[in-house]
Amino acid sequence: MQDTLILKGHILHTPSPTQLVAISHGYIVAVDGVVVYCGKTLPSSYEGLPVVDYGDQLIIPGFVDTHAHAPQYCNRGLGMDKELLPWLETYTFPEETKFNDPEYARLVYSAFVRDLWRHGTTRSILFGTIHKDSTVVLMKLLEEAGLSALVGKVNMDRNSPDFLIETTEQSLADTKAWLEASKSFGPLVKPIITPRFVPSCTSELMRGLGELAKEYDVPVQSHLSENYGEIEWVSALHPESDSYTDVYYEHQLMGQTPTVMAHCIHLSDEEMDRMEETQTMVSHCPYSNVNLSSGIAPIRKLLEHHIPVGLGSDISGGHAVSMAKVLMEAIGLSKMKWVEVDNQYAPLTLREAFYLATKGGGTFFGKVGSFEEGYELDALIIDDTSMFDANERSLEERLERWIYIGDDRHIMKRYVAGRLVEEPK
Ligand SMILES: [Zn+2]
Repeated sequence: MQDTLILKGHILHTPSPTQLVAISHGYIVAVDGVVVYCGKTLPSSYEGLPVVDYGDQLIIPGFVDTHAHAPQYCNRGLGMDKELLPWLETYTFPEETKFNDPEYARLVYSAFVRDLWRHGTTRSILFGTIHKDSTVVLMKLLEEAGLSALVGKVNMDRNSPDFLIETTEQSLADTKAWLEASKSFGPLVKPIITPRFVPSCTSELMRGLGELAKEYDVPVQSHLSENYGEIEWVSALHPESDSYTDVYYEHQLMGQTPTVMAHCIHLSDEEMDRMEETQTMVSHCPYSNVNLSSGIAPIRKLLEHHIPVGLGSDISGGHAVSMAKVLMEAIGLSKMKWVEVDNQYAPLTLREAFYLATKGGGTFFGKVGSFEEGYELDALIIDDTSMFDANERSLEERLERWIYIGDDRHIMKRYVAGRLVEEPK
């Protein structure tokens, strides 16, 4: 039997980076979780069906976080005086070791999943740790919560501390066992192959992971070109490759199944060509660009290169779970890049950044992040009436205001694939 959901309210979404659709008191009709209509008047074929009327509230697409480390949830706001490599050694690796214990994982992951829900992140692309059982715990919690995610068991078999390293054989065997275990999950939660980054993975491991990605037809995520020290390290480890990007490419970790790479701050033009050719998505993580003094990713240039871009919180290189705040920071950083570094590339507009935080990242999940026909209905209901304003505002102005000065307390409801999602227990 078909399940029809009709929402009414002030609808806002961005079918393209330059187009913001705003419909006052409009309707969204979804059948079996997929949008079949979005417009000003309810089609006659749906008259008489129940309508969930949100009155003067805003209806926007759910947010998509394309890069976060779930096990680093407790580390938010720590170690911000360090750059990437010492930060990893001092804070990240010791914390991730604790996820050897699935009970510790359950404790932290439960809080993290609740925070994703709270901030309206309906889809996320997540790193777990090297521990397969704890990664399955995270996937179960997400599925129970009704949130959608791609979750990765991390792989590391070199240049890692003794307490957080696998042998190549164990890493591949555990990954295969975890991919098998992942088959028991429904459509909302799926696995993603996750080499931590090139310095942590031998060629043999990367090659094996590329083969598993193909065998199981799953996407790939990793880190690319975040920090100058990291880039030099990769070049010393792989003198046979022309670039950091090409190391992934040559190991079948790009261009085979869909790939998302976090950061991509310092790519050469040749690397951008490779990203474009393979349609590899960049996860832009503005807060961690700043916090770890990594640099400002050239988002305008990446977009002009026709490279897909989404936004990421990068918990805990980034400190904020809220994608509304992440998109605000993406705008701010792009302004600094423009005025301080290169006035050739215009700053991101609100529309563009909102697009990146919804449909931009959503494309990695398929038809997600917009209310166009055929898109899965992920939506947030925003009540901004408590944010005092003595003036009449357009819907776009109300959205902008909420992004800048609002917070999760104004998110009244969340829908994922047409289903209302209540607060996780
Ligand atoms: Zn990361």
